[in-house]
Amino acid sequence: MESGMLFDIKHYAIHDGPGIRTTLFFKGCPLNCWWCHNPEGISPEPELMFKPNRCLPECSLCVQRCPKNALAKNNGLLFIETSQCRLVGECAKICPTLALEKIGYKLTVAEAMAVVEKDRIFQETSNGGVTFSGGEPLMQPEFLEALLDACRQRGIHTIVDTSGHAPYEILERIRKKVDLFFYDLKLMDENKHREETGISNRLILDNLNKLAQTGSKIQIRIPLIPEVNTSQEEIAAMAEFISSLPGIEEISLLPYHKMGGQKYENLNRPQPHSQAQAPSEEVIREIQSQLEPYGFRIKIGG
Ligand code: SF4
Ligand code: SF4
Repeated sequence: MESGMLFDIKHYAIHDGPGIRTTLFFKGCPLNCWWCHNPEGISPEPELMFKPNRCLPECSLCVQRCPKNALAKNNGLLFIETSQCRLVGECAKICPTLALEKIGYKLTVAEAMAVVEKDRIFQETSNGGVTFSGGEPLMQPEFLEALLDACRQRGIHTIVDTSGHAPYEILERIRKKVDLFFYDLKLMDENKHREETGISNRLILDNLNKLAQTGSKIQIRIPLIPEVNTSQEEIAAMAEFISSLPGIEEISLLPYHKMGGQKYENLNRPQPHSQAQAPSEEVIREIQSQLEPYGFRIKIGG
């Protein structure tokens, strides 16, 4: 039985596509966007997340339980020796306040579908379904395809939310099993894309072009990141490209927000560009007005 690694499952999601949905977050992403609000989804490996504000000063249960001696308590503060930690996860299992959490767990398709099935009544009564997000679902193609097959057998509507960075053969293999793609478009300029996300956008743009030619249903999602892609020139370049593709009717604008900031701290990682601000209402409205004449339906938010 096919299995894969997720880092979260969201129930009753109302911003991940039509209706009420169950969203499965795949662990691992080939990009490293500094604005990512799911930094725990980028590494394909499990990680330990620590929320210091939940840790009880007088408790040392996890220190005693760790078989690798990777934890120590000093003056009521917990210290994690990451070089020692082997992500056994015993600490997270015993922590009474969920201050420690092992991020990333393996599931078989049957186990994942059993979770999805519990939400069926909400999915059915709201014309919802299942959204595969991440991280990047295309990084675990066999797992994704098996889940898509399982959803199709049960008549469940599916969305694959992707950065588009994967060999095109994967998209070709799964596309007929997907009801709707959410396809992220971040920047047209290749060098800037590399600077901001760590990789070139060539494959992403090529794949989008090829996928659109197949008649697959695609909604474009543009994260609005000030000083990265909110200039008139960049928006115009994206609009021209999207207009050249057949069948794209809707664009979702996803304004940057700082909600992922705390997660970087909890993962003990510096947050890049921590001073970055959300785009103003005015900027969002201007971008909307710039895109509407191209004939797209514009949605703000997920
Ligand atoms: S593509 Fe999405 S999940 Fe991957 S790093 Fe960028 S924002 Fe995060
Ligand atoms: S078990 Fe949880 S609450 Fe107790 S010391 Fe460890 S992290 Fe803190």
